Amino acid sequence: MKHLNLLFIGGMLWSSCSVGPQKTEPIQIENSFVKSQLHTENAVLWQQSAAEYKALCYQTYTLAKLQLEQKLHAHAFPYEKKPAIVMDLDETVVDNSFFNAQLLLDNEEYSKSKWKEWSDLEKAGAVPGAVDFIAFAQGKGVEVIFISNRRVSELQATKNNVEALGIVNIDSSHYYLRTEEGSKMNRRAKVSEDYEILMLFGDNLADFNEVFDKRSNLDRNKLVHEMSKEFGATFIVLPNVLYGEWEGSLYAYKYHWTPAQKDSIRKTFVVGYK
Ligand SMILES: [Mg+2]
Repeated sequence: MKHLNLLFIGGMLWSSCSVGPQKTEPIQIENSFVKSQLHTENAVLWQQSAAEYKALCYQTYTLAKLQLEQKLHAHAFPYEKKPAIVMDLDETVVDNSFFNAQLLLDNEEYSKSKWKEWSDLEKAGAVPGAVDFIAFAQGKGVEVIFISNRRVSELQATKNNVEALGIVNIDSSHYYLRTEEGSKMNRRAKVSEDYEILMLFGDNLADFNEVFDKRSNLDRNKLVHEMSKEFGATFIVLPNVLYGEWEGSLYAYKYHWTPAQKDSIRKTFVVGYK
């Protein structure tokens, strides 16, 4: 009974802060065993198998080159501060789908220790187009700065991994990894002290501006609409169906729910037409 009450509260809470018509009651769970990562199966397949995923990444980076060139061309030189671009790493520059695929295969939930095990292997792949784009930006005299929520303890393995993909000449001091806070606001501000940030790259809205930090599903959708002109111009978004705050916002950023409860919450956001 307690279990069902929790699900009901969950359904009420999240249905009130999402887009479109919502069911106000949780879906009844007939089988209490829900495979923890089964819902990621199509996302894993898409990122690993769909040529459209690769095409979308190439398209994004090709258009980003045009934008960067245009920004450099249009600016009255010289810059007061050195021009730079700020890039997230995971699912923006490096592809971690192997990690999510392994969670799915092992029926395991994400944990910090499992993630560290994976990042220590230095086996992340390159997001299509990223390596070429970074070399292009460097060739234009633009500094590349990484702001990532990988932990500082992962710096060396991350740098090794990135370099093995052919992304070179980026000093350790240009890797702003996570210490205490998850928000990237202060790290972006720190970079701004020395650099003119021309563009930001990410797969998560919080990679672009703090207005997106930990916002509800409804707010995220409203803000993107209000800031639509930034996307494809200053904010360059890479696709990530595997994970991200798009999913976290459905759980109101509370990750303690059981797989069955998360499954129920997700279902309250599925909008049909009947
Ligand atoms: Mg990312």
